[in-house]
Amino acid sequence: MFVLKVSADGSLPLPGTVLEALGLEPGDEVRIEVRDGTGVLSPTPTTRDAGSGNAVRNAVNRKNLETPIRFIKGVGPKMSGLLARKGVATIEDALYLLPNHYEDRRRLRTVAQLRPGCTEVFCAVVRSGESVASKGGRQLFEAVVGDDTGTIVMKWFNFNPRQMKEIWKRGKRGIFTGEIVQYGSRREIHHPEADWIDDGADIAALMAADPVNFGRTVPVYPLTEGLQQKALRKVLKCVVDSHVSAVQSFVPSAIRERHSLMLLSDALREVHFPANETDIDLLNGRATQAHRTIVFDEFFFLQLGLAMKKHGTFREKGIPFRVTHRYTRPLLKTLPFRLTAAQKRVLTEIKDDMAAPHPMHRLIQGDVGSGKTMVALLAALLAAENDCQTAIMAPTEILAEQHYHTIRRSCDHLGVPVALLTSRVAGKERALVLKAIASGEVKIVVGTHAVIQEKVEFNRLGLGIIDEQHRFGVLQRGGLGKKGLNPHILVMTATPIPRTLAMTVYGDLSLSVIDEIPPGRSPVATKVCCEAHRATVYRMLRDEVRAGRQAYFICPLVEESEKSDLKAAVAMAEHLSREIFPEFRVGLLHGRLKPEEKEKVMRSFSLREIDILVATTVIEVGIDVPNATVMVVEHAERFGLTQLHQLRGRVGRGTVQSRCILLADGKLTSDAVRRLRVLEETTDGFRIAEADLELRGPGDFLGTRQAGLPDFRVASILRDGRILEEARSEAFAVVERDPCLSSGENVLLREELLRRWGGRLELAGIA
Ligand code: ADP
Ligand code: MG
Repeated sequence: MFVLKVSADGSLPLPGTVLEALGLEPGDEVRIEVRDGTGVLSPTPTTRDAGSGNAVRNAVNRKNLETPIRFIKGVGPKMSGLLARKGVATIEDALYLLPNHYEDRRRLRTVAQLRPGCTEVFCAVVRSGESVASKGGRQLFEAVVGDDTGTIVMKWFNFNPRQMKEIWKRGKRGIFTGEIVQYGSRREIHHPEADWIDDGADIAALMAADPVNFGRTVPVYPLTEGLQQKALRKVLKCVVDSHVSAVQSFVPSAIRERHSLMLLSDALREVHFPANETDIDLLNGRATQAHRTIVFDEFFFLQLGLAMKKHGTFREKGIPFRVTHRYTRPLLKTLPFRLTAAQKRVLTEIKDDMAAPHPMHRLIQGDVGSGKTMVALLAALLAAENDCQTAIMAPTEILAEQHYHTIRRSCDHLGVPVALLTSRVAGKERALVLKAIASGEVKIVVGTHAVIQEKVEFNRLGLGIIDEQHRFGVLQRGGLGKKGLNPHILVMTATPIPRTLAMTVYGDLSLSVIDEIPPGRSPVATKVCCEAHRATVYRMLRDEVRAGRQAYFICPLVEESEKSDLKAAVAMAEHLSREIFPEFRVGLLHGRLKPEEKEKVMRSFSLREIDILVATTVIEVGIDVPNATVMVVEHAERFGLTQLHQLRGRVGRGTVQSRCILLADGKLTSDAVRRLRVLEETTDGFRIAEADLELRGPGDFLGTRQAGLPDFRVASILRDGRILEEARSEAFAVVERDPCLSSGENVLLREELLRRWGGRLELAGIA
């Protein structure tokens, strides 16, 4: 039995569970029979076609939800324009425009009861209202209102004096809403909302007549200029009342039950206009069952898509490799070090993957300096043992060249031909390289991402390795798969992506983590310094260089102002070489240099012909010069923590104690300093990444160029990590049982999945 409550307007809303239990759909009629004062509810029998009922119902609901918002009563062209600015074009968009927070307007308080820090609603009478000058000489409008229990001051800082004087007349009665702030012993409200009560009117009746705004927990929506809270609230009430029932719950009922989820329509209704008994703190923390339901729904479909993608690649045929040790064993013998346990473990995971008859799709996460290049090389040699080619792709020419040299050093001994392919390799040389790749003579091709993806024919591509993947869009890795016969794919990143984010962005990849740094390295001693200590920093730098070490001097390069920042780097190099360190050799490296100039500088630096290298962030990833032991970062506050951590990884690569000085601007906010201090405290890339993610949010964390990160309307991968994991395991289980989503209730699931993912599933050949 259900107990229903008649709402203030006399209507009787039926919960979704009742609708479902009775098999009711929008438009159906319900008969209520009254016998001896008790009502018995029964749906009218309809002539729905039993077989296609669901499909028809779906189509109708969909159409309703896709109705443009301007067809809602009370939404004129102006309002629909304003809503468009909030990304609301349809009824469905509006349903997902969720309140930022909630105000407790369930009952009125007395003036004495108003609590500082809370948004309160109370009824009072105006005692006075006038413009006054503040101590600083600013004009402000002050009104005093009160009831039997006390008075409170209201203030406006932006106002029209004449209008205000007109409105705030002594003796007028109103219902006021606003946040109570406390100054010493005095309570104030700034820019309150007022609803005026006519003389002699009954407050209870007035409140009852406006059930959207009074006598309940009211939603507070995010606004945009020109959009009024009350007007928006009214529109959303109308949208929710008349259309929320068209929202279907596609998450299978068994899963809903397991996680105590509501029907999606009930959840949306509750989140917009919560029941009076719902705890307001839970609402404001977005922690109600209704919020959880909506978040789960979003994550579930994301993970379902990723599960399908992963399964799709799993079904593809790949090249199974055999481990012959022909090249790998001799290589390991000649190395001056032994692989770390983590490198070995990851290598085993890679071997297992590549031995399977399906293509590998694996992400290796390893902090800077964890030795990913060696793992990549060993995987490439495994491919070579199976007479297959490997493409290794790096984000920049410098990095590609560096990888090339490292790999050549090992492969020349082994007799495995390696080629470099960047935009610099041109003319006859390029033609020769391309020919050697096409004939299969070259076994390992190292190059920049763009070059290899677009223009190269392979003879037998068996493995693609993408270094520093976080710099590319997620979807870009698709391009490589088309080059060979479903080559194995290995993606490497030094960005220690927090688990929740990895599950979102790379949810279709298997994950390996190199969580160990080769022994003998001491962590880079890091210090945040302000301008005042610049001289000390220079002294330390001088000591280090005199002791035979080298140093990096990093200047930020922010995209919007690339030119002026570039100038700053050039000027800094001049300044250091002329005025500060005339006795040392100072070099300069930035993105605008021609590739051959860049390479020349890098080579000089690695040959110790340069003592201090002034550089922009072009050196961020991968550069490996063990004798460089000091890094100074100018304007450290302009960088993300993860980026600084990566930069810092350029030092501390030898056995000598290295240092990193983060020079920060004098006028720093304490927030910025606290942020930078994280780097003083830890060298654990994962902790840094978590801190970064918390501070900056996921989009920013991955960089703006990151493509393919799904947008969530409600869910947050920071706040809702637990739900993400639950949704993921359920979604993957569904695909495990029914890979094509072709049975029973899954058919609808599949349809909804395709709708939500749009074209993005096509890449994996599922749609
Ligand atoms: P990253 O993971 O940042 O790409 P690299 O592959 O550039 O790290 O390795 C950093 C340095 O560590 C290189 O000089 C490499 O030769 C060295 N290295 C790799 N593996 C080991 C190991 N097991 N023991 C000692 N040094 C290693
Ligand atoms: Mg690297």
